[in-house]
Amino acid sequence: MKHLLSINGLDGPLARILGCDCGRCTSPTRQAHTSASLISQNDQGETVHHILFDAGLGVSESLLANPHLQGSGARLDWLCLTHWHPDHTAGMNQLIVSRNVNGKRNKLNLPPLPLWCRSGTAEWVQKHHDFEIGLCDLHPIGDNEPPGTLLPSLPILLPDVTITPVTVAHLNADHGVDGRQPRYCCAAFVIETAVTKTILLWDLDSSNEWLVQPETEAQETAVTHLSHADYLFVDTAFWQAKPHKTTSHPSFSNVQRYAASLRPRHTFLMHLSGHPDGRGNPGWGWENGRWQTEARQVWQTKNLPGQVHVPAIGDSFCL
Ligand SMILES: [Zn+2]
Ligand SMILES: [Zn+2]
Repeated sequence: MKHLLSINGLDGPLARILGCDCGRCTSPTRQAHTSASLISQNDQGETVHHILFDAGLGVSESLLANPHLQGSGARLDWLCLTHWHPDHTAGMNQLIVSRNVNGKRNKLNLPPLPLWCRSGTAEWVQKHHDFEIGLCDLHPIGDNEPPGTLLPSLPILLPDVTITPVTVAHLNADHGVDGRQPRYCCAAFVIETAVTKTILLWDLDSSNEWLVQPETEAQETAVTHLSHADYLFVDTAFWQAKPHKTTSHPSFSNVQRYAASLRPRHTFLMHLSGHPDGRGNPGWGWENGRWQTEARQVWQTKNLPGQVHVPAIGDSFCL
């Protein structure tokens, strides 16, 4: 069996802003990625399983364009959510309804779509996506485990693949629907096959210092599990760090420290925005190509481990 990770997305962090004249908003090829698909194929090259991680706007279009999800390979077996924010869930309606219609039209007798997320996120999606949840089989896990906790592996029956969620802090998502704080809702994922380890590490805020300096035994275990990956896909919403302030997402300076600590072979920058640094500052309005050029210069100058890349939507990696 062969496992591929494809990068999905289109819009989201941040959406193209009405009236904005920055290079990113005015470019017709502007791309943002906040989602990935784990596609498994048999020895005949047929897609036999598909796990989707996050479903923001544009994800359905990425799946429709994916050459491995055409015809009888057009399937969705699991949806896993890092958290409930709209840039990771706003495409659920299009996606889940279209799976349902395809199933009915082709008499596939599909089960409700299994959906994994943390319990806090489950409450948010039940509030914001009650219609879609009616077509899903929800598997919420845990309650309020602190950042840096390994959760039980996902109950996905796929030979040679283990997917382990790891809790992260993401401050503007870490509250319950009832206003309870903190209500930790977010998870990263470690995907292990027989030959590779891949980390999906988004969204997280800049307070996740346990990635660099674990303080508890649980955090040390989590860091060991996240270390020496072949592929680290990591949230890099800002280029510049905001001094003395916890930001909702990491800056590129945080990411350098995470990479130095976790030592992946390849670091892929995700969730690039290009606005929060502000007009006139580095990062403002950069397209993905510029992000990659600037990041590679820093990687070389500071001799950081492995290589750094900005993936394109539709890129696939053999795991
Ligand atoms: Zn978020
Ligand atoms: Zn996000």
